[in-house]
Amino acid sequence: MDKAAIITGAGSGLGQAAAIRLAKEGVNISVVDVNEQGGKETVDMVKELGVDSIFIKADVSKPEEVKNYVDKTVEHFGTIDYFFNNAGISGSGKFFLDTAIEEINSIVGINLMGALYGVHYVAEVMLKNGGGSIVNTASSAGVIGQDSVVTYAATKHGIVGLTKSMVAEYAKDGLRVNTIAPGPTETPMVKEFYEANPKMKENATSGIPQKRLGTPEEVAELVTFLLTSKAQYINGEVIRIDGGFTNTK
Ligand code: NAD
Repeated sequence: MDKAAIITGAGSGLGQAAAIRLAKEGVNISVVDVNEQGGKETVDMVKELGVDSIFIKADVSKPEEVKNYVDKTVEHFGTIDYFFNNAGISGSGKFFLDTAIEEINSIVGINLMGALYGVHYVAEVMLKNGGGSIVNTASSAGVIGQDSVVTYAATKHGIVGLTKSMVAEYAKDGLRVNTIAPGPTETPMVKEFYEANPKMKENATSGIPQKRLGTPEEVAELVTFLLTSKAQYINGEVIRIDGGFTNTK
Protein backbone atom coordinates (compact mmCIF):
# COMPACT_ATOMS: atom_id res chain seq x y z
CA MET A 1 0.00 0.00 0.00
CA ASP A 2 1.17 3.59 -0.68
CA LYS A 3 2.57 5.51 2.27
CA ALA A 4 0.58 8.37 3.79
CA ALA A 5 1.74 11.39 5.77
CA ILE A 6 0.02 14.06 7.84
CA ILE A 7 1.70 17.47 7.78
CA THR A 8 0.41 20.25 10.03
CA GLY A 9 1.06 23.84 9.02
CA ALA A 10 1.37 22.52 5.47
CA GLY A 11 -0.24 25.61 3.95
CA SER A 12 3.01 27.58 4.06
CA GLY A 13 6.74 27.56 4.74
CA LEU A 14 8.42 24.45 6.10
CA GLY A 15 5.24 22.35 6.03
CA GLN A 16 4.55 23.15 2.38
CA ALA A 17 8.17 22.46 1.36
CA ALA A 18 8.07 19.11 3.20
CA ALA A 19 4.78 18.20 1.49
CA ILE A 20 6.35 18.79 -1.92
CA ARG A 21 9.54 16.89 -1.05
CA LEU A 22 7.64 13.89 0.38
CA ALA A 23 5.31 13.83 -2.62
CA LYS A 24 8.41 13.41 -4.78
CA GLU A 25 8.99 10.16 -2.82
CA GLY A 26 5.47 9.05 -3.81
CA VAL A 27 3.95 9.69 -0.37
CA ASN A 28 0.26 10.70 -0.20
CA ILE A 29 -0.31 13.79 1.90
CA SER A 30 -2.95 15.01 4.36
CA VAL A 31 -2.49 18.77 4.38
CA VAL A 32 -3.58 20.21 7.73
CA ASP A 33 -3.76 23.94 8.32
CA VAL A 34 -6.00 26.60 9.82
CA ASN A 35 -5.46 28.59 6.60
CA GLU A 36 -7.72 27.14 3.93
CA GLN A 37 -6.25 29.02 0.97
CA GLY A 38 -2.64 28.03 1.70
CA GLY A 39 -3.67 24.45 2.46
CA LYS A 40 -5.55 24.08 -0.81
CA GLU A 41 -2.61 25.52 -2.75
CA THR A 42 -0.37 22.85 -1.24
CA VAL A 43 -2.86 20.11 -2.16
CA ASP A 44 -2.83 21.32 -5.79
CA MET A 45 0.99 21.44 -5.85
CA VAL A 46 1.46 17.90 -4.52
CA LYS A 47 -1.29 16.44 -6.71
CA GLU A 48 0.64 17.75 -9.71
CA LEU A 49 3.47 15.49 -8.57
CA GLY A 50 1.18 12.48 -9.00
CA VAL A 51 0.19 11.64 -5.42
CA ASP A 52 -3.16 11.76 -3.66
CA SER A 53 -3.75 14.62 -1.23
CA ILE A 54 -6.58 16.05 0.88
CA PHE A 55 -6.94 19.29 2.81
CA ILE A 56 -8.26 19.12 6.36
CA LYS A 57 -8.92 22.42 8.07
CA ALA A 58 -7.94 22.32 11.74
CA ASP A 59 -6.76 24.55 14.53
CA VAL A 60 -4.17 22.30 16.20
CA SER A 61 -4.77 23.92 19.60
CA LYS A 62 -8.22 22.29 19.70
CA PRO A 63 -8.08 18.58 20.62
CA GLU A 64 -11.36 17.74 18.86
CA GLU A 65 -10.03 19.23 15.61
CA VAL A 66 -6.80 17.26 15.99
CA LYS A 67 -8.77 14.04 16.47
CA ASN A 68 -10.78 14.95 13.38
CA TYR A 69 -7.70 15.39 11.14
CA VAL A 70 -6.40 12.02 12.33
CA ASP A 71 -9.76 10.27 11.76
CA LYS A 72 -10.23 11.88 8.31
CA THR A 73 -6.74 10.79 7.24
CA VAL A 74 -7.33 7.18 8.29
CA GLU A 75 -10.73 7.24 6.56
CA HIS A 76 -9.20 8.49 3.31
CA PHE A 77 -5.78 6.79 3.18
CA GLY A 78 -6.34 3.82 5.52
CA THR A 79 -3.08 4.49 7.36
CA ILE A 80 -0.68 7.07 8.79
CA ASP A 81 2.96 6.17 8.17
CA TYR A 82 4.55 9.57 8.69
CA PHE A 83 3.62 12.62 10.77
CA PHE A 84 5.32 16.02 10.42
CA ASN A 85 4.06 17.79 13.54
CA ASN A 86 5.00 21.26 12.45
CA ALA A 87 2.33 23.97 12.85
CA GLY A 88 3.50 26.81 15.03
CA ILE A 89 3.52 30.54 15.62
CA SER A 90 6.36 32.76 16.79
CA GLY A 91 4.56 35.46 18.79
CA SER A 92 5.24 39.19 18.85
CA GLY A 93 8.88 39.06 19.98
CA LYS A 94 8.24 41.26 23.03
CA PHE A 95 10.22 40.80 26.25
CA PHE A 96 8.44 38.34 28.54
CA LEU A 97 7.14 40.81 31.11
CA ASP A 98 5.67 42.94 28.31
CA THR A 99 3.87 39.95 26.82
CA ALA A 100 0.13 39.66 27.48
CA ILE A 101 -1.12 36.47 29.17
CA GLU A 102 -3.42 35.92 26.15
CA GLU A 103 -0.38 35.78 23.86
CA ILE A 104 1.40 33.35 26.20
CA ASN A 105 -1.68 31.10 26.20
CA SER A 106 -1.96 31.26 22.43
CA ILE A 107 1.71 30.33 21.78
CA VAL A 108 1.57 27.47 24.30
CA GLY A 109 -1.82 26.32 22.95
CA ILE A 110 -0.64 26.06 19.36
CA ASN A 111 3.06 25.17 19.66
CA LEU A 112 3.05 22.85 22.66
CA MET A 113 -0.50 21.64 23.28
CA GLY A 114 -1.06 21.30 19.52
CA ALA A 115 2.07 19.17 19.23
CA LEU A 116 1.09 17.01 22.22
CA TYR A 117 -2.45 16.42 20.93
CA GLY A 118 -1.06 15.53 17.51
CA VAL A 119 1.37 12.96 18.86
CA HIS A 120 -1.32 11.57 21.19
CA TYR A 121 -3.85 10.81 18.45
CA VAL A 122 -1.40 9.95 15.65
CA ALA A 123 0.75 7.60 17.75
CA GLU A 124 -2.38 5.71 18.78
CA VAL A 125 -3.05 4.87 15.11
CA MET A 126 0.60 4.17 14.31
CA LEU A 127 1.01 1.75 17.24
CA LYS A 128 -2.14 -0.12 16.23
CA ASN A 129 -0.58 -0.51 12.76
CA GLY A 130 2.79 -1.73 14.08
CA GLY A 131 4.68 1.58 14.09
CA GLY A 132 5.44 4.79 12.28
CA SER A 133 7.67 7.82 12.20
CA ILE A 134 7.11 11.29 13.65
CA VAL A 135 9.13 14.47 13.18
CA ASN A 136 8.35 17.42 15.45
CA THR A 137 9.42 20.98 14.67
CA ALA A 138 11.34 22.68 17.45
CA SER A 139 13.73 25.57 16.70
CA SER A 140 17.10 26.98 17.71
CA ALA A 141 15.00 28.35 20.57
CA GLY A 142 14.40 24.71 21.59
CA VAL A 143 18.08 24.09 22.29
CA ILE A 144 19.44 27.44 23.53
CA GLY A 145 18.06 30.39 25.48
CA GLN A 146 17.48 33.70 23.67
CA ASP A 147 15.87 37.01 24.50
CA SER A 148 12.47 38.07 23.09
CA VAL A 149 11.24 34.48 22.75
CA VAL A 150 10.71 33.23 26.32
CA THR A 151 7.30 31.61 25.74
CA TYR A 152 8.24 30.35 22.28
CA ALA A 153 11.45 28.85 23.71
CA ALA A 154 9.50 27.19 26.53
CA THR A 155 7.24 25.49 23.97
CA LYS A 156 10.13 24.43 21.74
CA HIS A 157 12.14 23.03 24.68
CA GLY A 158 8.91 21.20 25.58
CA ILE A 159 8.87 19.61 22.15
CA VAL A 160 12.37 18.28 22.76
CA GLY A 161 11.16 16.67 26.03
CA LEU A 162 8.11 15.23 24.29
CA THR A 163 10.34 13.68 21.62
CA LYS A 164 12.82 12.03 23.96
CA SER A 165 10.21 10.71 26.38
CA MET A 166 7.94 9.28 23.66
CA VAL A 167 10.92 7.22 22.53
CA ALA A 168 11.48 5.96 26.08
CA GLU A 169 7.89 4.67 26.12
CA TYR A 170 7.18 3.49 22.57
CA ALA A 171 10.36 2.85 20.54
CA LYS A 172 10.08 -0.84 21.44
CA ASP A 173 6.69 -0.90 19.67
CA GLY A 174 8.02 0.45 16.37
CA LEU A 175 7.66 4.18 16.87
CA ARG A 176 10.39 6.63 15.86
CA VAL A 177 10.11 10.23 17.07
CA ASN A 178 12.67 12.87 16.15
CA THR A 179 12.83 16.65 16.25
CA ILE A 180 14.32 19.23 13.95
CA ALA A 181 15.71 22.48 15.34
CA PRO A 182 15.91 24.94 12.44
CA GLY A 183 17.62 28.29 12.72
CA PRO A 184 16.16 31.28 10.87
CA THR A 185 14.89 29.90 7.58
CA GLU A 186 13.74 31.87 4.55
CA THR A 187 10.07 30.94 4.58
CA PRO A 188 7.81 33.49 2.84
CA MET A 189 6.96 35.12 6.17
CA VAL A 190 10.60 35.50 7.28
CA LYS A 191 11.63 36.68 3.80
CA GLU A 192 8.96 39.37 3.78
CA PHE A 193 9.94 40.48 7.27
CA TYR A 194 13.63 40.79 6.39
CA GLU A 195 12.89 42.55 3.10
CA ALA A 196 11.12 45.21 5.14
CA ASN A 197 13.89 45.22 7.80
CA PRO A 198 17.23 44.62 5.99
CA LYS A 199 19.24 45.69 9.06
CA MET A 200 17.66 42.86 11.07
CA LYS A 201 18.57 40.38 8.36
CA GLU A 202 22.16 41.58 8.55
CA ASN A 203 22.14 41.11 12.34
CA ALA A 204 20.65 37.62 12.05
CA THR A 205 23.04 36.38 9.37
CA SER A 206 26.15 37.86 11.00
CA GLY A 207 25.62 35.50 13.98
CA ILE A 208 25.41 32.42 11.72
CA PRO A 209 28.79 30.82 10.89
CA GLN A 210 27.61 30.06 7.31
CA LYS A 211 26.54 33.73 6.94
CA ARG A 212 23.16 33.01 5.38
CA LEU A 213 19.69 31.86 6.37
CA GLY A 214 18.49 28.31 5.73
CA THR A 215 16.03 27.45 2.98
CA PRO A 216 12.73 25.56 3.36
CA GLU A 217 14.02 23.03 0.83
CA GLU A 218 17.06 22.22 3.01
CA VAL A 219 14.77 21.64 5.98
CA ALA A 220 12.37 19.52 3.87
CA GLU A 221 15.30 17.30 2.87
CA LEU A 222 16.11 16.60 6.53
CA VAL A 223 12.45 15.98 7.41
CA THR A 224 12.14 13.48 4.56
CA PHE A 225 15.31 11.67 5.61
CA LEU A 226 14.13 11.40 9.23
CA LEU A 227 10.57 10.36 8.40
CA THR A 228 11.36 7.67 5.89
CA SER A 229 13.10 4.34 6.18
CA LYS A 230 16.47 5.97 5.41
CA ALA A 231 16.74 6.81 9.13
CA GLN A 232 15.62 3.47 10.65
CA TYR A 233 17.95 3.63 13.67
CA ILE A 234 17.68 7.34 14.48
CA ASN A 235 15.31 7.86 17.41
CA GLY A 236 14.72 10.58 20.00
CA GLU A 237 17.23 12.80 18.20
CA VAL A 238 17.16 16.59 18.01
CA ILE A 239 18.85 17.65 14.79
CA ARG A 240 19.96 21.25 14.44
CA ILE A 241 19.76 22.69 10.93
CA ASP A 242 21.07 26.19 11.42
CA GLY A 243 24.36 26.76 9.58
CA GLY A 244 26.29 26.21 12.82
CA PHE A 245 24.40 28.92 14.75
CA THR A 246 23.54 27.17 18.03
CA ASN A 247 26.72 25.06 18.17
CA THR A 248 28.82 28.21 18.26
CA LYS A 249 26.80 29.97 20.97
P1 NAD B 1 4.72 29.72 8.36
O1 NAD B 1 3.98 30.81 9.06
O2 NAD B 1 5.21 29.94 6.97
O3 NAD B 1 3.84 28.38 8.38
C1 NAD B 1 3.15 27.97 9.51
C2 NAD B 1 1.81 27.39 9.09
O4 NAD B 1 1.15 26.95 10.29
C3 NAD B 1 0.88 28.42 8.42
O5 NAD B 1 0.35 27.90 7.23
C4 NAD B 1 -0.21 28.65 9.46
O6 NAD B 1 -1.49 28.92 8.89
C5 NAD B 1 -0.21 27.32 10.21
N1 NAD B 1 -0.77 27.47 11.55
C6 NAD B 1 -0.55 28.47 12.44
N2 NAD B 1 -1.31 28.27 13.52
C7 NAD B 1 -2.04 27.14 13.31
C8 NAD B 1 -3.01 26.44 14.06
N3 NAD B 1 -3.43 26.87 15.26
N4 NAD B 1 -3.53 25.31 13.55
C9 NAD B 1 -3.14 24.87 12.33
N5 NAD B 1 -2.24 25.50 11.56
C10 NAD B 1 -1.70 26.63 12.05
O7 NAD B 1 5.94 29.37 9.33
P2 NAD B 1 7.16 28.36 9.17
O8 NAD B 1 8.37 29.17 9.24
O9 NAD B 1 6.96 27.40 8.05
O10 NAD B 1 7.01 27.58 10.57
C11 NAD B 1 6.74 26.20 10.67
C12 NAD B 1 7.32 25.70 11.98
O11 NAD B 1 8.73 25.91 11.97
C13 NAD B 1 6.81 26.41 13.23
O12 NAD B 1 6.60 25.47 14.26
C14 NAD B 1 7.94 27.36 13.59
O13 NAD B 1 7.96 27.64 14.97
C15 NAD B 1 9.13 26.53 13.17
N6 NAD B 1 10.38 27.27 12.89
C16 NAD B 1 10.48 28.15 11.87
C17 NAD B 1 11.67 28.81 11.64
C18 NAD B 1 11.84 29.82 10.53
O14 NAD B 1 12.82 30.58 10.54
N7 NAD B 1 10.97 29.86 9.54
C19 NAD B 1 12.78 28.54 12.45
C20 NAD B 1 12.63 27.60 13.49
C21 NAD B 1 11.44 26.97 13.69
